[in-house]
Amino acid sequence: MIPVTGFEGARVAVLGLGRSGLSAARALRAGGAEALCWDDNANARAAAEAEGFVCRDLHAHGAFDGVAALIVSPGIPHLYPEPNPVVAAALRAGVPVDNDIGLFFRSFATRAWDRFETAPRIVAVTGSNGKSTTAALIHHILTAAGRPAQLAGNIGRGVLDIDPARDGEVIVLELSSYQTDLARALTPDIAVFTNLSPDHLDRHGGLGGYFAAKRRLFSEGGPDRAVIGVDEAEGLFLAGQMSEGVADDRVIRVSVTQKLVGPGWQVFARKGFLSEYRKGRQAASIDLRPVRGLPGAHNHQNACAAYAACRALGLAPRRIEAALQDYPGLPHRSQIVAEAAGVVYVNDSKATNVDSAAKALSAFSRIRWICGGLQKEGGLTGLAAATGAVAKAYVIGREAAGFALQLKVDAEICTTMEQAVARAMAEAEPGDTVLLAPAAASFDQYDNFEQRGDDFTALVRSHLAG
Ligand code: ADP
Repeated sequence: MIPVTGFEGARVAVLGLGRSGLSAARALRAGGAEALCWDDNANARAAAEAEGFVCRDLHAHGAFDGVAALIVSPGIPHLYPEPNPVVAAALRAGVPVDNDIGLFFRSFATRAWDRFETAPRIVAVTGSNGKSTTAALIHHILTAAGRPAQLAGNIGRGVLDIDPARDGEVIVLELSSYQTDLARALTPDIAVFTNLSPDHLDRHGGLGGYFAAKRRLFSEGGPDRAVIGVDEAEGLFLAGQMSEGVADDRVIRVSVTQKLVGPGWQVFARKGFLSEYRKGRQAASIDLRPVRGLPGAHNHQNACAAYAACRALGLAPRRIEAALQDYPGLPHRSQIVAEAAGVVYVNDSKATNVDSAAKALSAFSRIRWICGGLQKEGGLTGLAAATGAVAKAYVIGREAAGFALQLKVDAEICTTMEQAVARAMAEAEPGDTVLLAPAAASFDQYDNFEQRGDDFTALVRSHLAG
């Protein structure tokens, strides 16, 4: 755990007692603060009280008297579509509002670091898609290269739950837009921006607010190096803002659509090959095609971003190349869960939005595509260009019929995962990929995308075993 510093003897309110809220309360207590906890859910309050925390109704009049700060969980709106009433009350009372990420950045460095030969460093990854994959990949490469590293944030452990840093350690964080929007301290050594496509727009008041939230990771803390995907206008703009000129190598530009060979520092992937150019010269080339854990151009983008971050940390290209080969992939992201009779079964349940599903679809040829669920804002029009390799869609979800109508491919309304898997398996031919990439949230039928992916995997395996 990282005890929170700067609030010794002070009262700090904590709103939301899920994983990050409870971990913030514990870290505040360890740092000598008094945590006043609240969650509208009585079970969550009971869990906090069982750990000895005081719960105080933060909706009550005067609840913020004598309170030094309010720590808010990422699931609770702090501004859009409208501020949660407790957040609004804190703001009216002039109490600073922060989150576990802000507490972490202000508390992480300690006196013990004075004895270290190499100060610990923080790599923070944000973007619309590929954050988890990129963060996990950076962590995997560092570990394979024998560097001490910990992975935290939206993936793995909560930031305040990590172990105190060791000499030369690298902390790899995955940060969502909710987290970067609210954190009052954001000072990574290396900041990574994978890409941008519309998502969570209700929580950010539109695309501009969403981009602004991600941009804070770069503008607030002035990272030593910025790794930025420049295939969208926003990334290109951000890279321009972060650099002093064309040769400024504090920015490493990443692309999977263009060859980048300018005088600065850049990493790009084309036709399955990753290339690094620095000062106008090629520094390395890696064949990504045989890397099974990272199929498709979208994963090549993640590979380029992770490669660039590791280069910025001083790793040699051949070390990174060796580690890429045995990256196992993350569950529910382009995860090969079975192979039989020439058919590959891929679980990409994490493809919850149109962009990520489109990317998953472009990674395979002849696809039997299981899709559907709770549709996100913006409809499915963005998918039309990506369905060229789809032999047939098997549509799940409570609104399967409406979903199927919007697809420009042969589609069968299956409603349940069981039916979709059975039909796709019955019709699959050697060379096909049966791909779960829903392009929708899972909440109409499942608790979360993990449960949906597990259901798919279990059904595939039981059919194959039977
Ligand atoms: P995040 O943590 O940003 O949600 P993940 O690595 O968990 O990203 O990937 C989420 C989904 O997005 C995956 O299921 C995959 O289909 C898709 N995806 C992964 N990397 C990219 C990328 N670089 N660009 C677009 N889509 C991607």
